[in-house]
Amino acid sequence: MMATNGKDACGLKGDEPSVSLNGGNEAFANKSHSPVVHGAATEAPCRSKLQNGGTEAERFTFSPEPTVEDIRRMQAEFTDERDWNQFHQPRNLLLAMVGEVGEVSELFQWRGEVAEGLPGWTESEREQLAQELSDVMIYLVELAEKCRVDLPQAVLRKMALNRLKYPASKVHGSAKKYTEYED
Ligand SMILES: [Mg+2]
Repeated sequence: MMATNGKDACGLKGDEPSVSLNGGNEAFANKSHSPVVHGAATEAPCRSKLQNGGTEAERFTFSPEPTVEDIRRMQAEFTDERDWNQFHQPRNLLLAMVGEVGEVSELFQWRGEVAEGLPGWTESEREQLAQELSDVMIYLVELAEKCRVDLPQAVLRKMALNRLKYPASKVHGSAKKYTEYED
């Protein structure tokens, strides 16, 4: 089972979580007052069917919490408590996020193509990936906050633009860039 939701991530003993000056992992681990930590969300993530080339596969879904705003608030508390806002300016956060993307990349490096669901990965490797993806998201959310971008609403606007740029009827099954389609 992929450890991508908070429930699975909490109890696993992977590599020692690295908490550095800018480490975000504690944001999830130490906020016991948060209603969304330690798998407090009671509903199991719902599953839906994905039609995939004629075969039905189960589509993985996330837990409903924490929301993006929950993550922003938890990381803001983490940063405030450590007096780290002096370091967490937009450019620094951007570089930190790119560094975390590098840490995600390291986990895929030299493996060749990896199939959906990561068959063959150990629980420890999956947990490491969950931690590094979380680091990326935590920094992304804090970067958006410090840049005054309301990220959930910005995502809605961008997805609307993407639907206009790539009408399903025109691009179905094609990986071309939008500039390559004829009008
Ligand atoms: Mg990391």
